Amino acid sequence: MTRTFSSLTAVLLISLAQLSTAQAPMKWKIHDPNRPVPPVIDPGTSSTQETPGRAPSDAVVLFDGKDLSHWVSAEGGGPAKWKVENGYMEVAPKTGYIATRDSFGDCQLHVEFAEPSPGVGESQERGNSGVFLMGLYETQVLDSYQNKTYADGQAAAEYGQYPPQVNAARPPAQWQTYDIIFHRPHFKDGKLTRPARVTVLHNGVLVQDNVELTGPTAHGERPPYKPGPDKLPLALQDHGDPVRYRNIWIRELHEE
Ligand code: MG
Repeated sequence: MTRTFSSLTAVLLISLAQLSTAQAPMKWKIHDPNRPVPPVIDPGTSSTQETPGRAPSDAVVLFDGKDLSHWVSAEGGGPAKWKVENGYMEVAPKTGYIATRDSFGDCQLHVEFAEPSPGVGESQERGNSGVFLMGLYETQVLDSYQNKTYADGQAAAEYGQYPPQVNAARPPAQWQTYDIIFHRPHFKDGKLTRPARVTVLHNGVLVQDNVELTGPTAHGERPPYKPGPDKLPLALQDHGDPVRYRNIWIRELHEE
């Protein structure tokens, strides 16, 4: 009797487990004429070395080459002190990270950067900056053109966690692109229920394929997640090198 009960319980538990992992049923019939069609947008244009492209019409333009009105000093929130000239902004060494006025969670982010030319220094001391999603998770910016450093610290690494799949770096002075798709971590009752995920294209090449972050970025360690808000400002790193940025835009993503 006990044994039969156990088997039944086991079968029931397995069925329940299967149910919970099964795909949710599709809400719409195939080719359903009542299904809303996606909004129409203008996709913008791609950049060339000479001219920055135009952002998609539904993006928030964070930097259009003219001013730092969307940015503040990350520490203290005062005016961002980086240099703006000739259509780009440039890290003013020792003035600190800059952060967006607005906060973002899940997003598609486009960033263009150019490394100092001629390249000075080596390893991590050569054209170091970084794109910090939610101010916490760094996609490394570094001059990785013929510059050796540790794998999880080179350009387009999720710093300290994942090296890029390939080194797609261009030489100093040339404009390079990052297209980043980011999904924030989820927490429930103070516990992590879903880690953050990141996809990165460097100069159009897939280099991070939906990797699961172990937690926020740190130097020399991999600290665990701490529960926090769903959205936080995006930050750019001052690592003491005059890295340039242009044409930064973001599209917030909304889960269905
Ligand atoms: Mg960095």
